[in-house]
Amino acid sequence: MDISVVIPLYNEEESLPELYAWIERVMQEHGFTYEVIFVNDGSTDRSWQVIEELKQRSPHVKGIKFRRNYGKSPALYCGFEQAEGNVVITMDADLQDSPDEIPELYRMITVEGYDLVSGWKQKRYDPLSKTIPTKLFNATARKVSGIKNLHDFNCGLKAYRCEVVKSIEVYGEMHRYIPYLAKTAGFGRIGEKVVHHQARKYGKTKFGLNRFVNGYLDLISLWFLSTFGVKPMHFFGLLGSLMFILGFIAVLIVGFGKLYYMNHGMPYRLVTDSPYFYLALTSMIIGTQLFVAGFLGELISRNAPERNKYQIEKIL
Ligand code: UDP
Ligand code: MG
Repeated sequence: MDISVVIPLYNEEESLPELYAWIERVMQEHGFTYEVIFVNDGSTDRSWQVIEELKQRSPHVKGIKFRRNYGKSPALYCGFEQAEGNVVITMDADLQDSPDEIPELYRMITVEGYDLVSGWKQKRYDPLSKTIPTKLFNATARKVSGIKNLHDFNCGLKAYRCEVVKSIEVYGEMHRYIPYLAKTAGFGRIGEKVVHHQARKYGKTKFGLNRFVNGYLDLISLWFLSTFGVKPMHFFGLLGSLMFILGFIAVLIVGFGKLYYMNHGMPYRLVTDSPYFYLALTSMIIGTQLFVAGFLGELISRNAPERNKYQIEKIL
């Protein structure tokens, strides 16, 4: 099979028939063999009935129905598990992404050899309150992930080589950083294609402004995991040592300072009267705790099932 289209959706009943008809038309025009996997993320409207109706009419439709609303990332994860096509394409269900982009995305993966091609909504039809934070967000993501050529990490329209989606694990709200996950998994040929974007036609957006706060926190987690995931002591141990040494030096200064004054018959203060004493104390305690956190981290990562999971490309 050439293409699997994975579509996560939450309360998008009005868009589905139109979206499917459009995808079907594009696929038939280009003669692709394909499947369309709708992942119903606990919709409370008629979305699932619509999917069932589509399924009755067309053998290319697959449906997955969650018992409750888990989020876009879990929906993508389950869609990826089911996908059988050589190229997997994800798109939003709200008709903001255009199925007309599919043939070119497919070509970029199969002919130009990209592992992942991400859409770029260069001209967006979203409110300003969303487009401005998005610019900042993408700039940070570029810096942290080191993927310098992407302008739009969170674009719903993306294409992947099949191995990519089978090797990455999208969870929580990590769908915003799939290119980063892919890169961490060793799929470094990441491209971009300018795509058409439309204003939402039906329904309303499912993410509020907290997407940016959560997005940044997730980025920090990802950076931490990809850098220190299997060697937490390198992070906590370094910080802990620095803190401890700083505190220790401060204690020496305070202690020897007092002895010096005593020996030279000068008036001296109690060690506990000096603010540095408390700073030193705190810093040594925090340093020790960071170290302990490092040991705990090592114990945890030693038990993690993915501690020895590598992406092996070929064995001869
Ligand atoms: N979505 C989902 N589960 C959720 C929230 C959203 O499957 O909990 C789907 C939604 O139905 C849509 C896609 O994710 O197909 C993108 O959502 P939305 O259009 O609301 O995001 P925006 O375009 O505002 O970034
Ligand atoms: Mg949308």
